[in-house]
Amino acid sequence: MSIYEQVQAGDHVIIDNYIGGQWKAPQSGERMASLNPARRGDTVGMAPASDAKDLEEAVAAAEAARRNWGRLTGAQRGAILYKAADLLESRMEIVGRTMTREMGKTLGEAKGETARGAAILRYYAGEGMRPIGDVIPSTDADAVMFTTRVPLGVVGVISPWNFPVAIPIWKMAPALIYGNAVVWKPAAETSVTAALVMECLHDAGLPAGVANMVIGDGAVIGQAIAAHPGIHGITFTGSNAVGKQVGQAALARGAKYQLEMGGKNPVIIAADADLDLAVDGTISGGLRSTGQKCTATSRVIVVAEVYEAFKEKLLAKVNQLKLGDGLDATTWLGPCASEKQYNTVKRYIHAGVEEGAELIAGGLELEDAALADGYYVAPTVFEGVTTAMKIGREEIFGPVLALMEAADLEEAFRLANDTEFGLSASLYTRDLSSAFAFIRESEAGLVRINAETAGVELQAPFGGMKQSSSHSREQGQAAIEFYTSIKTVFVKP
Ligand code: NAD
Repeated sequence: MSIYEQVQAGDHVIIDNYIGGQWKAPQSGERMASLNPARRGDTVGMAPASDAKDLEEAVAAAEAARRNWGRLTGAQRGAILYKAADLLESRMEIVGRTMTREMGKTLGEAKGETARGAAILRYYAGEGMRPIGDVIPSTDADAVMFTTRVPLGVVGVISPWNFPVAIPIWKMAPALIYGNAVVWKPAAETSVTAALVMECLHDAGLPAGVANMVIGDGAVIGQAIAAHPGIHGITFTGSNAVGKQVGQAALARGAKYQLEMGGKNPVIIAADADLDLAVDGTISGGLRSTGQKCTATSRVIVVAEVYEAFKEKLLAKVNQLKLGDGLDATTWLGPCASEKQYNTVKRYIHAGVEEGAELIAGGLELEDAALADGYYVAPTVFEGVTTAMKIGREEIFGPVLALMEAADLEEAFRLANDTEFGLSASLYTRDLSSAFAFIRESEAGLVRINAETAGVELQAPFGGMKQSSSHSREQGQAAIEFYTSIKTVFVKP
């Protein structure tokens, strides 16, 4: 039975690694549970606890497959990605439900992400038919000089649990279309979702060994990918602490790497903002997906003139948000994705109180006793937060908003940039010159005006400044920069 059929038939599956076109049990025989954060005791599936031997086998399979794959035309590779997109789309309900059960986001968001995954596959499928080089005039009148793009070889993909379909696809689809083979290590928390994605590529007819998946502990498999001499490029999305280790290991052996990491994203509310729009954007940007987006709004910087009015409107809406199991259609936000993530958020909420910020909504006490069964945190708002406080500086990755009051827009811009991160930033204003001043001044890779910080379009470059990335960009046309090398060719007949 396929994984899809197993998930469809029951509620507990045993999944394997995917190596050389086959599902293979980990050589150690060890497995780990993927758990539902909404209901303690609900095991979604059992996943491999792989070790370096499994990775070794996957790298060998990718190495054996990459040249033939690279020799296909872009259109041939694209045809497989189109097929995978159709399959993923047709499996949206099951993939979405599995995602919700593994990491807690609401079913609507999970299905939306699955649809996004299909759209990304189609976008890169089309890339197989687009230009991959330029003709450059030579100083030799008899010669033709041009650039072409060649694959890196074997690409290691390390992905997080928060977008378990979209992120691996926005890494694997460009890697594949430009002719690379892939070894993917998904986050263990979302192993079953990952296996469903992998199965779409398999069922679409991807040749054996072109994409491989090894599931295991990050410190074991992730670090082994970063250090493996047979992996020519590593693309990582996750936390800063881990990203830096991956980058250092890659640099040490001269491999190409790309790191997409955390954020501490600000939204600024100017005195002339449409406050209702700003409240909706702050809530959606900060609390959807339980605040577990790298682009989530974390700091809410409000100009003094409208501070009280904005706060009142914000609290009125925040206090109405329905917390619950993401599979329940009435739920607006689900639990934290895991016990580990819950404990992190709990630590930050305690730190906020200890450092003198005022808790004005939410927190760890829950009114609904039924929620005691999962890792729930009520949508939380602090005020009186400064950029010196932990909750004003560090990425929380939970449903927590930190309100800061700024005397004027100039101070708001300064506060927004007073962070080591630089992923996303937004400004609500009706004034065009304020908007353009922010576009100029903001130290973030994604700047949004009258729109929430969390909003990424698959056809546009995505990535951060400062500590949020290795200064590379993913998605859209930008992806070609990482997944290929430029070859400059000079031909004299
Ligand atoms: P994480 O760093 O804990 O894990 C990310 C991946 O790295 C997982 O697959 C994990 O197993 C693996 N890993 C863990 N330890 C490793 C090690 N020592 N060596 C190599 N790999 C290792 O991050 P997470 O908790 O899964 O995800 C949340 C983080 O991801 C947040 O910081 C968030 O901001 C960031 N994120 C960034 C973006 C972006 O595009 N910038 C998008 C989504 C998430």
